[in-house]
Amino acid sequence: MYCKYSMSVQKTEPIDIQDLLSIIATKTAYYPRQSRTGWKSRCPAHDDTTPSLSISVGFDEKILFKCFSGCTYKDICDS
Ligand SMILES: [Zn+2]
Repeated sequence: MYCKYSMSVQKTEPIDIQDLLSIIATKTAYYPRQSRTGWKSRCPAHDDTTPSLSISVGFDEKILFKCFSGCTYKDICDS
C-alpha cells in the first residue's frame, strides 16, 4: 500500500508526506517522529517495539524507507 509513494512525482505535485505518516501511525500505533534526516517510525513490516524505520525524502523526491531490522522495501510496501 505504500508503494505508490515510491513513484517519482512531478515537481509541481507536492508529496503528501503527512498522509503517509498518518497511514503508518494507524498501522503501528506510533506517530512518526521527525528526525534530522526525515522521520523515524515503527516498522509496519515486522513486530516492531522501537522506532527502527527511517523515512526520508530523496533528492529525486522519492520516499525512502530504511528498516534497521532488515525489512526490504517490498516488505514494507506489502505490509
Ligand atoms: Zn522492519
